[in-house]
Amino acid sequence: MRAVVQKDKNRSVPGRPALGCGVAVLASAALLSACAGPAETRPAPGQGGPVQVLGPQDRRAAEHARQAAEHARLVAAARRWGLDRVPLTPPPPPKVKPEITARAGFEVAHQEDWDLPPVFTTIPTKQKIVFLTIDDGSEKDPDFLRMMQDLKIPYTAFLSDYLVKDDYGYFRTMQAEGHTLNNHTLHHPYLPGLSYEEQKDEICGMQKIMRKQFGKAPTVMRFPYGNYNQDSLRAAKACGIKYAPIWNEEVFVDHWEYREDDQKMRRGDIVLTHFRGRSEWDGTMIDDMRRFLNKVTREGYAVARLEDYL
Ligand SMILES: [Zn+2]
Repeated sequence: MRAVVQKDKNRSVPGRPALGCGVAVLASAALLSACAGPAETRPAPGQGGPVQVLGPQDRRAAEHARQAAEHARLVAAARRWGLDRVPLTPPPPPKVKPEITARAGFEVAHQEDWDLPPVFTTIPTKQKIVFLTIDDGSEKDPDFLRMMQDLKIPYTAFLSDYLVKDDYGYFRTMQAEGHTLNNHTLHHPYLPGLSYEEQKDEICGMQKIMRKQFGKAPTVMRFPYGNYNQDSLRAAKACGIKYAPIWNEEVFVDHWEYREDDQKMRRGDIVLTHFRGRSEWDGTMIDDMRRFLNKVTREGYAVARLEDYL
């Protein structure tokens, strides 16, 4: 199951049960047993009353009721956010992580023998999933956080300090909701134009800020514009980076761009979009996500969490 946590969902009000005892759709033995009142007010046996020991059937019924309630919630959420249909649920994280290597043609000299972080665009998997990654950080739309939380869509953010430093709190909320924050340098430079030391300052400098603002330094980074040279990979490694994913498709509010000539999505593709709003393109983050989710769902893909595969 996904690690996205619905905040406040199970928080109980003092003196009142958390989930509302006796709600018809949730009237499973498991829930009612948690709601048992004084003996004389309990329902008679056979009417869904408290059960001390749950059998497998009761547990299955409880799980079934939970799934039905969650599906109904997602249907309503999809409608509320204007989606064509409910996004597909990704499979559980793999028990064995795939081996990630540099994409052919994206290696640098000594890639393997110096154990440099791989640059890749797709995660090897047989599952029909894609990974959503969102870069930079200029737009901080509260509706975007609500939408993704509501629909339980995992994503990974690559942050550049000069764009996020006016509101680290926005990204802390994101992190608290189960999304991963990664390094996208301090000032978003064209790295191959800088010396090794300058590149290291850009990458390690951002690691330091992320440790301070978000509690830990990431092991994943994205090079601005997807441009790098051997120094970039050496500097990234020296700063604690293990993976340097780029992307196989880029989503804009009004179109898609593909890396592959056949203009198709593939299993395990990493999809890029940006934290942008009306000031930078003709729509909101919500419009952008609607385009993205409608397309991946229509083509039968679920959105999975990148870090589950690294
Ligand atoms: Zn960027």
